[in-house]
Amino acid sequence: MDVPRFAVDRMLGRLARWLRVLGFDAAYRNELPGDRLLTLAAREDRIVVTRDGRLRDPRGRARVIRITSAGFRDQLRELDRVLPLGGMDARPQRCVECNEAVLPVALADVPESVPAYVRATQTDFRRCPRCRRIFWPATHRTRMESEIEALGLTSPGTDRA
Ligand SMILES: [Zn+2]
Repeated sequence: MDVPRFAVDRMLGRLARWLRVLGFDAAYRNELPGDRLLTLAAREDRIVVTRDGRLRDPRGRARVIRITSAGFRDQLRELDRVLPLGGMDARPQRCVECNEAVLPVALADVPESVPAYVRATQTDFRRCPRCRRIFWPATHRTRMESEIEALGLTSPGTDRA
């Protein structure tokens, strides 16, 4: 199964960020009204994720998944019940801010703004091609993984009762 790509509505910013943490391509523009979201989704082959109960796509251009929960954890679980989100190894690491897949960066090119002890102890640095933020595994990853574990997301292929 292809990794799904999302177009997330403006009421679900936190969910969009978490989808990126999970490695999903999640377009999110907080100024985008519903019909524009549908157009974007249709053009870029994305699944619309929305809390807008009135959002309809009469022309059936894009798949729409409706979320009713308020908190992002419940929203992720709700989405996971429709589309299994677990099993994150196959997906690239993404910049949570920009949605870009981050690219490996040589240790020599890691800027001085990254603390010396990090440069001394880490080897796997990545950079967002858009905002130039530097990422390394130890920091975000541990917290992120425990969060993901706590969410109990379903792996694609997992037997679902
Ligand atoms: Zn970025």
